Amino acid sequence: MKRSRALDRIHSAKTPFDVVVIGGGASGLGAALDAAARGHSVALFEQADFAKGTSSRSTKLVHGGVRYLQQGNISLVLEALRERGRLAKNAPHLVRSQAFVIPNYSWWQGPFYGIGMKVYDQLAGKLGLSPSRHLSKKETVDMIPTIETDKLVGGVIYHDGQFDDSRLAVNLAQTADELGACMVNYAKCVGLEKENDAVSGVKIHDLESGNEFSVAAKSVINATGVFVDGIRQMDDPKASNIIAVSQGIHIVLPKSFLPGNAAIMIPKTADGRVLFAVPWRDHVVVGTTDTPLKGHSIEPRALEEEREFVMTHACKYLTKDPTPDDVLSVFAGLRPLVKAGDGSDTAALSRDHSIIISGSGLITLTGGKWTTYRKMAEDVIDQAETLAGLDHKRCETEDMQIHGWTKTDAKEPNLAPYGADAVQIQELIDNDPALAELVHPALRTQKAEVIWHARVEMARTVEDVLARRTRNLLLNAVASIEAAPEVARILAEELGRDEAWQKEQVAAYEALAKGYVFADPESTARE
Ligand SMILES: Cc1cc2nc3c(=O)[nH]c(=O)nc-3n(C[C@H](O)[C@H](O)[C@H](O)COP(=O)(O)OP(=O)(O)OC[C@H]3O[C@@H](n4cnc5c(N)ncnc54)[C@H](O)[C@@H]3O)c2cc1C
Repeated sequence: MKRSRALDRIHSAKTPFDVVVIGGGASGLGAALDAAARGHSVALFEQADFAKGTSSRSTKLVHGGVRYLQQGNISLVLEALRERGRLAKNAPHLVRSQAFVIPNYSWWQGPFYGIGMKVYDQLAGKLGLSPSRHLSKKETVDMIPTIETDKLVGGVIYHDGQFDDSRLAVNLAQTADELGACMVNYAKCVGLEKENDAVSGVKIHDLESGNEFSVAAKSVINATGVFVDGIRQMDDPKASNIIAVSQGIHIVLPKSFLPGNAAIMIPKTADGRVLFAVPWRDHVVVGTTDTPLKGHSIEPRALEEEREFVMTHACKYLTKDPTPDDVLSVFAGLRPLVKAGDGSDTAALSRDHSIIISGSGLITLTGGKWTTYRKMAEDVIDQAETLAGLDHKRCETEDMQIHGWTKTDAKEPNLAPYGADAVQIQELIDNDPALAELVHPALRTQKAEVIWHARVEMARTVEDVLARRTRNLLLNAVASIEAAPEVARILAEELGRDEAWQKEQVAAYEALAKGYVFADPESTARE
């Protein structure tokens, strides 16, 4: 996947693209892949890096949504469980089955959650991961040795999926690229082209070269997450806001806080929220919150009350109480929740996700969740075909293997998230053993990986490498700051950048990553 090659193809296109997608998160990447797989011509523009927005900030679950089950939204759970099964089959290198334990602190919780999880199993049917069952108090403690035992009566175990969100995003971009889509990061949509009041293309600002250019399109899909209203208002300055933003945060702790393989799921905290503590990449992710926000930003920050909520609840359910110094990273993400439309739009589909078609033909795709990105994409491309008069073609993604697909475990566990590509990264190391060195003693990233990110995965900045190609920003924010100069050096060699660029990159990364440090941003990394 090469940025310059994608841009060349865009500039030399003689006819309008069948589909232009604005936004490179789960929704946009899924749409670009679906359209390319059907044989349509596609270009996607992302203003920052793929998955820079909400799609790198999730709880990392591929799930049916136990919460929706509580709300009685059976069709939504069914759809998500079907998609969970498909994703596990199509990206086995990134999705794995995860055991969750619901600890029971009153006698009624056992039967209540036990029956609920049996319904969940039945809905999953053949795509079920493992049947749920009751656990005695002893079994619960065996599975979660650090669970709070005061008043504990037992538990219920069930299974859901877990994945790596931004790695999946990069692999989706690669799959779309391999099918002929032009995928460009650091390219911002700054306006829409119109012909006879109908949207006929996009104006793009290339943030690397500073160039501005127009791209003609038969259909334009606005998949910009919490930014969809901005694009809708480029189309029609009077368009009302349809998005209500809700923030969710997570903290990341060392694995010792949740040893073993099982996760904890608290279906209802005292104030009615769902809380997870999930093992992930040899660490523990704890969250989340649901805080309505008035504004939105590409770099949201955890609020003091959210940090306090997650810490208090981590202490409540774990025997080992985390202190601020134990928190390796804190990250925030924004949910785009769809409010009712203003009457001038047609809500073509409104489930968990929404597809909204403006009078000009601009198609907005939003809401939903990572788990259902494929179905959202199928729905939106069906709409785009009808609206733009494209040939109706069959959706091809249900059984499509995603880039990196393999069922063979990588020889080196740190290379496992690269799936089938691990072999080629290993070859870089075999050819130059110095590339086996880590970028920082407390991080598991080898220098060869950074070369791979630049050459093959379209990483353009230090942040792309440390936040999304690897997950070091989320796993150990302080160590990632210390690793930034070395990552900048390797990237500069690969991308032909000078020393001034390296300095700028390191400074920009440090400024960003300090926002992920929970306690003292001036602290040094623990190994
Ligand atoms: C706290 C939290 C936890 C979650 N956990 C889970 C989970 O465990 N499992 C699950 O299935 N789902 C989960 N979700 C939901 C899931 O993460 C989101 O539904 C999904 O990531 C949304 O993807 P998106 O592409 O619509 O938005 P985004 O990922 O935000 O992508 C939009 C992109 O558009 C780009 N953009 C904006 N404006 C422009 C422009 N003018 N030009 C070009 N590009 C632009 C942005 O930079 C951004 O990258 C969670 C959500 C949150 C907030």
